Amino acid sequence: MKRMIQTLKYLIRQKTITEDKTKNHEVLKWIEKKLVSKFQTKILHKKGFYSLIATTQKTKHPKVWLAAHLDVVPGSNEIFIPKEEKGKIIGRGAFDMKFAIACFLKLVEEIKDIQAYNFGIMVTSDEEIGGQNGVKFLLNEQYRSELVFLPDGCTGESIEREAKGVWHIEAEARGVSTHASRPWAGKNAIQKLIHFLYELEKHTRSESCEDKIHHHNTLNIGKIRGGEAINKVPHKAVAELDIRHIPETSEKEIKTLVRKIAKKHRVEIREIVYARPTITNFEDTKIKLYEKIYKEQTGKRLKRTLSHGSSDARFFHEKGIPVILAQPKGGGHHTEYEWVDIQGLESYYQVLKKWLLTIS
Ligand SMILES: [Zn+2]
Repeated sequence: MKRMIQTLKYLIRQKTITEDKTKNHEVLKWIEKKLVSKFQTKILHKKGFYSLIATTQKTKHPKVWLAAHLDVVPGSNEIFIPKEEKGKIIGRGAFDMKFAIACFLKLVEEIKDIQAYNFGIMVTSDEEIGGQNGVKFLLNEQYRSELVFLPDGCTGESIEREAKGVWHIEAEARGVSTHASRPWAGKNAIQKLIHFLYELEKHTRSESCEDKIHHHNTLNIGKIRGGEAINKVPHKAVAELDIRHIPETSEKEIKTLVRKIAKKHRVEIREIVYARPTITNFEDTKIKLYEKIYKEQTGKRLKRTLSHGSSDARFFHEKGIPVILAQPKGGGHHTEYEWVDIQGLESYYQVLKKWLLTIS
């Protein structure tokens, strides 16, 4: 256990923010060194983003990938100094998701006769900005498996049941500019945009709502810009929106609804990015086994939760590969108090090990 915590602390100290490709590459090489005597390893890159692939067998299709991302979101200098208090490890990446890499490295150390098993480790470095040049790229390179273990989520002590779809769009309203003293002579683009946003908002639930798990669609108006002067009627206004939908609302439904409202207000919609919602198939035997081992090991049932964000899991789902997203006790991802529970991590590790040795 001590070794795993040491590894985690070392990883937290490495400022592997997504933008620092060189740092990510350097740490991937450090990880590769730990694997190279037992695994077939390879470092690949796309648009300067590096990924590490390691397999016990010489194959692109191991039974299982243990997947993680090394990159983290930025934070204060302080949060890159790991702390241990009240049975927790605190620091950037402790929960999202360097703990997983520490677990994988411990597995490699502990499993004797590792070549008798058939699994791989996949570590990418661009998850926080979308995963296009990490997991998506690797799948395009034909890396596959029967199942993926990717402990990336935000709830802790749970397994993901479903994840919302995410749609980022830009909405643009055009008007006719004129002097503010004669508004009848022009068309105010900001007002046009506001009317659109106001109607759009009516179709999502307002917070704080009574649904504790917020199993509903959401809208965030993240950015808004327009106007040049107080005494001028603006001719252009743009809003950037983050729309999330539950799997029960289809992609088509949500997009049609938004486009319909936009059309009514003569606002133009541009898609920035879309990620589909996902649902875990709990009939999958390997997933069933994971839940069973968890219960045996901890005496508790693993909570099945709804995730409000999306992860690299969507790329695997698109290729029909089931994914287990299960995390130990922890929280505070992307905040200045990101933590993982040490005891929780230990029992999590034991579950993972037992499960992996049974299925691979
Ligand atoms: Zn709500």
